[in-house]
Amino acid sequence: MAALNLARLITAAADTIAAHAEELTALDQAIGDGDHGLNMKRGFEAVRAEAEVFSAKPLPEALKAIGTKLVMTVGGASGPLFGTLFMALGKEISAEPDRANLTAAFGKAIEAVAARGKSQIGQKTMLDVLQPVHDALLQGKTAPEIADIADAAAEATVPMKALRGRASFLGDRSIGHMDAGARSTALLVRTIVETLEG
Ligand code: ADP
Ligand code: MG
Ligand code: MG
Repeated sequence: MAALNLARLITAAADTIAAHAEELTALDQAIGDGDHGLNMKRGFEAVRAEAEVFSAKPLPEALKAIGTKLVMTVGGASGPLFGTLFMALGKEISAEPDRANLTAAFGKAIEAVAARGKSQIGQKTMLDVLQPVHDALLQGKTAPEIADIADAAAEATVPMKALRGRASFLGDRSIGHMDAGARSTALLVRTIVETLEG
């Protein structure tokens, strides 16, 4: 893996979230409370504001600090979950990760999110994107393949019935809409793999 430029990754992620904030909000309006775009934008702009501070740290410390910042700024249900994802990734990753270490650390981070959310795959949440992406990493898929798998996994939440989060209050009426957190996760996955490749 090429040397990881964290400042570049943070800028790219914040740009992507800002560009898609209205789309994420619209998805959350259909089956939630319509704040997911705003929540994510607030969090990723807060991370962007301190990009220099984060990128001066060793990668594990940087990821933990980013996770803490996301917990403090995103809010809602997704803040603690995305925060947990980055904090757990920071705990497990090495300072100069190879693909095997990244894959293993990502797997542990997904377990931490599932524990925090008391959730599992198939419940129409961000986990429905995270898990297929981990599987793709394990299978040695390329960066473009992984980005496409993430998009398809977000699409695949459309026919699901939500069993966690606000959308679950709607029961069967949650069917037919994409999960907002699955979409934001797929956007971040594409941005991260494309930035790492580029
Ligand atoms: P809120 O629902 O509190 O307004 P957001 O709108 O920011 O928070 O985030 C909603 C997203 O969080 C959902 O689309 C879903 O992907 C994710 N989510 C909610 N609850 C859980 C959970 N228990 N486990 C995993 N993901 C969850
Ligand atoms: Mg919401
Ligand atoms: Mg909310």
